[in-house]
Amino acid sequence: MAYVITEGCIDCKDGACVSCCPVDCIYEGGRTFYIHPDECISCGICVSVCPTDAIYEDVEVPQHLRHFIGINREFFGPQVSGLGSPGGASSVGPKSCDHPLVAAAAQSAADR
Ligand code: SF4
Ligand code: SF4
Repeated sequence: MAYVITEGCIDCKDGACVSCCPVDCIYEGGRTFYIHPDECISCGICVSVCPTDAIYEDVEVPQHLRHFIGINREFFGPQVSGLGSPGGASSVGPKSCDHPLVAAAAQSAADR
């Protein structure tokens, strides 16, 4: 069980969830943030502060956004950031890379 950041965060990235996460498991990529699925303790605090309603518990992710479960996990793998499980985002700092599906996502209307 873990929480998942989905489409609404792409190019928003205001970071509100990062500052309220008690275990520092929300990591910054180039266009979005990613929740580490093995470090998240499923407290749910981040959901209430997200201005774009981008965060869901994994079992409640809507069907059309379910690929973001894999996107959040795969961001930490060797094919994307190679971060593995560092145990805290603040010790890592922002990364410029993104999961390929996020990198290829269309720009949001607000950014055009
Ligand atoms: S559910 Fe809790 S532990 Fe998981 S990312 Fe959100 S604030 Fe952090
Ligand atoms: S609060 Fe929502 S929009 Fe802001 S960084 Fe977190 S997931 Fe992205």
